[in-house]
Amino acid sequence: MDAGRLFEGRRVLVFGIANERSIAWGIARAMHEQGARCAFTYAGEVLEKRVRPLAEQVGADLVLPCDVTDEAQIDAVFQQVEERWGGLDVMVHAVAYANREDLDGRFVDTSRQGFLTALEISAYSLVALTRRAAPLLVPTKGSIVTLTYYGAEKVVPNYNVMGVAKAALEAAVRYLAAELGPEGVRINAISAGAIKTLAASGVKGFRTMLAIAEERAPLRRNITLDDVAGAALYLCSELGAGVTGEVLHVDAGYHVRGM
Ligand code: NAD
Repeated sequence: MDAGRLFEGRRVLVFGIANERSIAWGIARAMHEQGARCAFTYAGEVLEKRVRPLAEQVGADLVLPCDVTDEAQIDAVFQQVEERWGGLDVMVHAVAYANREDLDGRFVDTSRQGFLTALEISAYSLVALTRRAAPLLVPTKGSIVTLTYYGAEKVVPNYNVMGVAKAALEAAVRYLAAELGPEGVRINAISAGAIKTLAASGVKGFRTMLAIAEERAPLRRNITLDDVAGAALYLCSELGAGVTGEVLHVDAGYHVRGM
């Protein structure tokens, strides 16, 4: 293996940076430190103001608008990536959304529209983006990583429809892994423990989740952006060359506990 930096010259396209607390930013920064070239996307003008300074910090080649519900914007992103780079090495998908009222109260009260919105933005977007990324990803080297949460596997209070969306996301990772695999392209998910971010603040009782995780996780602490970034470096580099379709828990061990 090359003794130099893990991502030297690799072209990394990132979806999901909202601000400096975003998991996607933690991953992008770590890949940049390992030599990666970055392209960032942002969802709407309000976030553009937050994302541009971060893009400057890593000298990003492209900073493009992309609401993942907008097919034309997705097409435009991949067209510009192809024009600029002619290919792609890594795609980071760290996008999720549910209406605030669906992250509180009873899951059974989730509206049809609320359900569709959460599943569209948080799960279908991975399929839509992977379809465009696949022809650009370098055979035997290309890799995709997405972010999920334990609420996909077990009932977590107030996570509700997002748990169902994450279950769909994790299943999508397995189906996509089977289809991308013959080209040597890999896709994996990181099941991250709770981290205080913009998206997390939408989940009612999030502070309690942090406190419980710290008290009960085997490592007796919450996780950091660097913990998640380290896992992403592993999964998306040669270090993870034999791994695809996996859901890797980066949660200080919380998921191993029964009672
Ligand atoms: P974040 O708010 O920083 O990131 C969420 C991103 O989703 C934002 O950048 C937002 O712009 C983007 N997004 C929402 N709707 C969009 C749309 N229609 N089009 C394009 N982008 C859209 O929060 P985060 O915690 O860094 O979230 C990143 C990922 O990590 C999410 O998938 C989240 O579910 C997952 N995750 C977070 C935690 C946690 O505790 N923070 C734990 C496990 C998994």
